[in-house]
Amino acid sequence: MTIDLKTLTISKVREMFTKGTLTSTELVQAYLDQINLHDKEVNAFREVYSDALEQAKNADDIRKNDPTQASTMSLLGIPFAIKDNMQINGKHAGAASKILENYVSSYDATVIAKLKKAGAIFIGRLNMDEFAMGGSTENSAYGVVKNPNDLSRVAGGSSGGSAASVAMDAVLVSLGSDTGGSIRQPSSYCGVVGLKPTYGRVSRHGLMAMGSSLDVIGPIAKTVEEVEEIFNVISGQDRYDATTLSDEDVKGAIGKSSNINLQKLRVGIVPELMNMGGINPVVLKNLNDSIEKLKNAGVEIKEVSLPHIKYSLAVYYVLMPAEVSSNMSRFDSIKYGGKVEGKDLLGDYLNTRGELLGKEVRRRIILGTYVLSSGYHDAYYNKANIVRDLIAADFKKAYEEVDVILTPTAPSPAFKMGQNSSDPVAMYLEDIFTVTANLIGIPAISIPSGVVELDEVNSAGEKIKLPLGIQFMAPLCREDVLFAIGKKFTTA
Ligand code: GLN
Repeated sequence: MTIDLKTLTISKVREMFTKGTLTSTELVQAYLDQINLHDKEVNAFREVYSDALEQAKNADDIRKNDPTQASTMSLLGIPFAIKDNMQINGKHAGAASKILENYVSSYDATVIAKLKKAGAIFIGRLNMDEFAMGGSTENSAYGVVKNPNDLSRVAGGSSGGSAASVAMDAVLVSLGSDTGGSIRQPSSYCGVVGLKPTYGRVSRHGLMAMGSSLDVIGPIAKTVEEVEEIFNVISGQDRYDATTLSDEDVKGAIGKSSNINLQKLRVGIVPELMNMGGINPVVLKNLNDSIEKLKNAGVEIKEVSLPHIKYSLAVYYVLMPAEVSSNMSRFDSIKYGGKVEGKDLLGDYLNTRGELLGKEVRRRIILGTYVLSSGYHDAYYNKANIVRDLIAADFKKAYEEVDVILTPTAPSPAFKMGQNSSDPVAMYLEDIFTVTANLIGIPAISIPSGVVELDEVNSAGEKIKLPLGIQFMAPLCREDVLFAIGKKFTTA
């Protein structure tokens, strides 16, 4: 049978499963065929699990033999793929780093346990920037993920494999992680929907830490509805992650924003951010078109001021490396992963970390160690934390006037491979719109907002079309606002 993978969604698949017109085994086989056909080139997958079909068959068996149990499993037989920095018991997980090349997980991350309980199956793990540090997957130790829309360009990062795999119809849905934009930016580059939930709404247990006060796991899919459904399954308080929020915490965090009217959302735009310079004109044009589209759909658009947002990127690139340098200290050649022997203990450390960690990871360890060192701690780390609070206060104020804030997701469409890789600052600038949500913990979503047609043609002689994305940022714990505006925008 031929399956139209392009238009498949979780709810369509579920319907077909229930009607008996499709089995999970057939669906997984179709994805495996697609991977065989395209992934040699795209390089989205680090590994396709050898038991993918077996998992599908188990799901099919449950549906056939135990309808009562099947009815309690909302994602029974739905194929997921996950970023290579999440743990599935018994499977390799490597964060696309040589240092974890042979590492096998000994437990399920909480998100995985929840998805398994709902019946989801996992067909593979996805390529990424090493330890999620980067915005193009050019920092993967296993080669770059190419953009399915134009193979000369990056898919974005760090969750490049998570976005590309969905965009190329090699899996139905995926999970990524977002520390400064790693779900949203590749989603924007690849033309899919990516959600960064509120910090603490999704457990980080079983996610390899990058910046512990910034990291969050989230879903990537073709539609807002799917991302919403996955979020509802994976979110919730978790005894293994003390930073997860209880229902009580969520209520408290929502506070004043509880009176938002989902039918009449007020969208804020930020002129000072748009006038900063450095934004590709096609991105600005797309943003203006998106604003028009929202207005035509009856959405109120209002200008708001966020005076400290211009410091977000600088603050992020102080705090994030500080947390990175602490988190990476566990890779000491003893507890986990690979080892390159030295002549003594210090030699073991130096050789292992020097040879098995990539350049960007080492750069951030050095930066982070520096900003935390005595004498500089106050000047950088503490100062950055103060500005972080100022940024949060700006947003609090803005949310008195609007319900959700709109920006582009990234300042440019997907860039050419190699274009930014020798200039870390140019690469860091790609995060300009996304890092703020991580700094202050709020939820944000990237939604496809059209394409830009280039003058270049691809190998088939067709003009290359690159996707663009817009980002909505809502108050703490108001993912529902993102889903509402996302649906409104998509159907407008
Ligand atoms: N591109 C950003 C960085 O390099 C974000 C990474 C992320 O969100 N994991 O830090």
